[in-house]
Amino acid sequence: MKRRFYKNSMILLILLALFSVLGIHSMLEKSRQFQAQDLTLEDAGYRRDFFSESMRSDQHLSFECQTFLTNVEKEAVYFPIPESTVDKSLSVSYTDSWMQERNYGGESGHEGTDLMAARNERGIYPVLSVSDGTVTNLGWLEKGGYRVGITSESGTYYYYAHLESYANIREGDRVRAGELLGYMGDSGYGPEGTTGQFDVHLHFGIYLYQNGEEYSFNPYHLLCYLEKHKLKYAYS
Ligand SMILES: [Zn+2]
Repeated sequence: MKRRFYKNSMILLILLALFSVLGIHSMLEKSRQFQAQDLTLEDAGYRRDFFSESMRSDQHLSFECQTFLTNVEKEAVYFPIPESTVDKSLSVSYTDSWMQERNYGGESGHEGTDLMAARNERGIYPVLSVSDGTVTNLGWLEKGGYRVGITSESGTYYYYAHLESYANIREGDRVRAGELLGYMGDSGYGPEGTTGQFDVHLHFGIYLYQNGEEYSFNPYHLLCYLEKHKLKYAYS
């Protein structure tokens, strides 16, 4: 009798353990889904100061989102366009154009920031990698023209589009923050080699890939912050 009671208790315990594991598992699944959905609301938080403490401690930001911010904060070191030591008029300007309407190839929202050249001439302004990383994409895109995609160690994807030409880099190369990727241009919006469809600028974007989904983030506030970290190059 005692033995049978022991056996029944054991079965009960095993069943209980199984249920609790399954229960916790489904809770985890739910919270993962919630966080993944939450990430799509990134612009709600992202429009505010990229580096503000209040944003980082925002309870509405998912854990993934907070981790992403922390990673970008650590990785992004330099402004993508250096200051010219020989011609001070070679500046760039940009505004927060996040999700503004774009009409090429169907209507879409602007997923990035455009750094406009004060001198509207292709091939003058160097474009530098803001972070360490690996060249994971290089070549023509109909919308992006000659673009470079750098994936950092944390998996953040830094996208540089509309280049005039590339530096001596290939897919798979490791690059360091501040390394030359190419020169600013006006390529894109057509078949390979198309230029002149818009003014010379660098389109800069940041993306996160998670569970097969792509999330884009507004890089505007990051760029404002990185302005304090401009490298100096002699170019004119
Ligand atoms: Zn753009």
